[in-house]
Amino acid sequence: MTNLTKTIKKIDSILELRELNSLIVDRIKSLRRTTNFQSSTEFSIGQTVKINNENIKSNSKLKGAIGKIKKINRTKAVVDFGNIGEWNVPFYLLLKTKEKFNGKKKTGNKCKYCRKPNCSPDPDVLCGDCRETFGHSFYSEL
Ligand SMILES: [Zn+2]
Repeated sequence: MTNLTKTIKKIDSILELRELNSLIVDRIKSLRRTTNFQSSTEFSIGQTVKINNENIKSNSKLKGAIGKIKKINRTKAVVDFGNIGEWNVPFYLLLKTKEKFNGKKKTGNKCKYCRKPNCSPDPDVLCGDCRETFGHSFYSEL
């Protein structure tokens, strides 16, 4: 057990624990602010980035994802993660990477009508061209 944990376990005043809790929350907020501030200038449009797994929930859809920055806002960037889609991601979750962005490589299904990629996990979905031609989204609607 770390010293910090031991110290915390010795506290038995709820008031003190509440104070400690708000101190920690403030510290997290301030760290996030400074990281955001530093980072927004570090990143650029078109850059390949990956999700910093240390700062994200382990069950997150974005865990380990690699993407390309499409737009930079004050505290967040719009990142294209290919198959997972575009996400508005705070800078503290992003790391620059030299790894290749291959988000587009994973294909969806093929259009049942013309065999072109439908870019969807649903095999019943028509490709973009066929959706336009037929005015329907699904093969089963034809
Ligand atoms: Zn098609």
